[in-house]
Amino acid sequence: MAATVSSFSFPLWANGLEDEIWDVIIVGSGVAGLSAACSALQAGSKRILILEKGPIVGGHSILSTGYVAGVDRKRQKKLGIADSPELMLRNMLDIGGHENDFELAKVVCYQSEETIYWLEDLGIKWEERIFQTVAGLHPRSHITSPVRAGYDYVMTLLKFALSKGAVLKLNTRATDLIYENGSVKGILATDTNGLSQKYSGKATILATGGFTANVELRKKYDPRLGQEFPTTANPFGSTFDGATGDGLLMAQRIGAATKDAEYLQLIPFWGLKNCETRALKV
Ligand SMILES: Cc1cc2nc3c(=O)[nH]c(=O)nc-3n(C[C@H](O)[C@H](O)[C@H](O)COP(=O)(O)OP(=O)(O)OC[C@H]3O[C@@H](n4cnc5c(N)ncnc54)[C@H](O)[C@@H]3O)c2cc1C
Repeated sequence: MAATVSSFSFPLWANGLEDEIWDVIIVGSGVAGLSAACSALQAGSKRILILEKGPIVGGHSILSTGYVAGVDRKRQKKLGIADSPELMLRNMLDIGGHENDFELAKVVCYQSEETIYWLEDLGIKWEERIFQTVAGLHPRSHITSPVRAGYDYVMTLLKFALSKGAVLKLNTRATDLIYENGSVKGILATDTNGLSQKYSGKATILATGGFTANVELRKKYDPRLGQEFPTTANPFGSTFDGATGDGLLMAQRIGAATKDAEYLQLIPFWGLKNCETRALKV
């Protein structure tokens, strides 16, 4: 979603709200949002704003085990593993029962190798071991460490983005896209005191993660997932889990449609309230 602004004037007042004008506004500070920030900076954007509704960065990404699937002939060759984007695509189509969005699967597979090296260039230190994960058909999964890979990705990307001038605002929840004359011009957000702010941007990127913490929304896609299933990020109902589908809902409010939602696999938690551990059978 992109919008054009004709000039920079920062800050100004409009409709009683302070209006900040940015090159790129990113909503969400998980790996998707932080990767977008790094990539935009590398492409020459200067004024990058990352909005995060939580009190800390990282969303589900920071909790993630963090196995990243990607062709990596540099490391795989040393371990005697043959691989290619073509093979990864074949595996992905097989595991998806050939119902995949072919063009999208192709992008993921054909860009996976450069993504592995791009992350490495930003400072990610991959383990030399390559893994075959549970749902994988070939050994091509990477981690930095078996205990804190998600944390490593978030911190590495964040460090790069901030060092190049990106601005991060925590405790700032995006509430609505600013949509005028058929294009997105930015975002409205509120802080923890309920103060609203308008942020205008040439481009606005929604990277708000999933929606397993939104019981009503997840039940729409999988009626089995009632309140009794807490989420990994908030297993006892006492901490923060930002995965409430805000980006999806904001986009739908301006007329966006969903695609292939019936294929989503929602896994809120490995267990039930009152600490009884039980796998959800999907
Ligand atoms: C325990 C665990 C293990 C996992 N293991 C793996 C694995 O090995 N391999 C793998 O590929 N995947 C794994 N996953 C899944 C993977 O971590 C996620 O798919 C990925 O991190 C999602 O990244 P994201 O940036 O899209 O979302 P997130 O990391 O969830 O980031 C979204 C951010 O947006 C913020 N946000 C939401 N709404 C708003 C709003 N309105 N305004 C401002 N900010 C907002 C949220 O607070 C959050 O910080 C795992 C997940 C978990 C929980």
